[in-house]
Amino acid sequence: MVLIFILLLALLGRLIIAELERKGQDSSAREGGNCPTCAASVEADWLVCPQCGAMLEVRCSGCNGRIAAYFANCPWCGIRQKRANA
Ligand SMILES: [Zn+2]
Ligand SMILES: [Zn+2]
Repeated sequence: MVLIFILLLALLGRLIIAELERKGQDSSAREGGNCPTCAASVEADWLVCPQCGAMLEVRCSGCNGRIAAYFANCPWCGIRQKRANA
């Protein structure tokens, strides 16, 4: 009886680990990019680059919407973004 309980517990543990791994993959699959200043890979919801401290969220020059600094075009109005270091 105790053995069955341990087996169930092990199975449950595996399910939880599988679920956590799936969630981790989901978050890593979110569209990130590269820092425009130091080219470090950054995640979509980061505001500042952890490598160089550059702002990763900027205002669109066309519609003033909040966009990631590494976007080539604004996702809201489609205007091509000017890069300060390009
Ligand atoms: Zn950077
Ligand atoms: Zn825009």
